[in-house]
Amino acid sequence: MNKIIELRSDTFTTPSQQMKEYMFDAQVGDDVYGEDPSVNALEEKLAKLTNKESALFAASGTQANLLAMLSHCQRGEEYICGQDSHIFKYEGGGASVLGGISAQPIEFEDDGTLDLIKVNKKIKPDNFHYAITKLLCLENTHNGKVLPLSYLQEARKFTQDKNLLLHLDGARVFNAVTALGIDIKDISACFDSINICISKGLGAPVGSVLVGSKEFINKARRYRKMIGGGLRQSGYLAAACSYAIDNNIKDLEKDHIHAKKLALELSKIDEIKILSNNTNMVFIELLDKNVDVFINNLKNKGINISGTYNELRLVTHRDVSSEDIEYVIKAFKEFFIK
Ligand SMILES: *Cc1c(COP(=O)(O)O)cnc(C)c1O
Repeated sequence: MNKIIELRSDTFTTPSQQMKEYMFDAQVGDDVYGEDPSVNALEEKLAKLTNKESALFAASGTQANLLAMLSHCQRGEEYICGQDSHIFKYEGGGASVLGGISAQPIEFEDDGTLDLIKVNKKIKPDNFHYAITKLLCLENTHNGKVLPLSYLQEARKFTQDKNLLLHLDGARVFNAVTALGIDIKDISACFDSINICISKGLGAPVGSVLVGSKEFINKARRYRKMIGGGLRQSGYLAAACSYAIDNNIKDLEKDHIHAKKLALELSKIDEIKILSNNTNMVFIELLDKNVDVFINNLKNKGINISGTYNELRLVTHRDVSSEDIEYVIKAFKEFFIK
């Protein structure tokens, strides 16, 4: 068994032969001078696709989110976000460390939304005791969960009424678009800015794009240079992202079908409880089993999954085929059903 079936994350996708050929042929220039045609083409593509004025190519989703925070908020201002949101929990506290921006996290609802009534209670009054509440951050998808369009529209109206900005961590926003069968413009219309990762299920090796108004992106471009994100001939990477946007969005549907199939078959195993199954993710709980022993057993069969305590996460993506899914289901059943 040479092939590893990688279910830890959709970040493990590697560039296809066609993508590599497209990268190889990319026209490049110095992007810090604004002269890399492939970067410019990607930024224009995403701005147009999301119906925003402008876009900026970033090295990672973490960088794109940080640029958004730095551009939207000043020192002494704060953002409201989900307790388990990527921005708050998994990005080293960048906005606080580098921007003097504080976080006001609240618990997510079960459906991945933030209850706007609870958000409202956390907006600080205009009083010198408090940080100035400036921004609300949502995540779509969150643990694979898709936020309903009607909720996003409510959040738009709410933030406008409260004079807040609204940012979307849309690392997997195309999974949401795919699940809802809508145009990304319907989602982007609700936000001042969006971070879109192209290095996850879309299969590019590196890269995220931040979209928003011209003024916002101009600020973000200055911060990107400041934090060392001006990347010169980055057109080779941008070309991979353009290829992914043009060719790979349509394949996300298959990943969702694979995740559903996994959830259905694993639910038949008594020792497994399905905690959630949305878009390309399945979260499961192992009942009465040593998780490390199980993870190692799968690893010996060429399957990588990640877990903490008794909870395991399986993420499907374009490098996991239908046959791979069948193989994984078989491996699970072999372990539990003796
Ligand atoms: C992956 C991810 C990011 C960005 O991660 P990078 O590894 O920095 O590209 C941001 N938000 C969410 C929800 C993510 O899943």
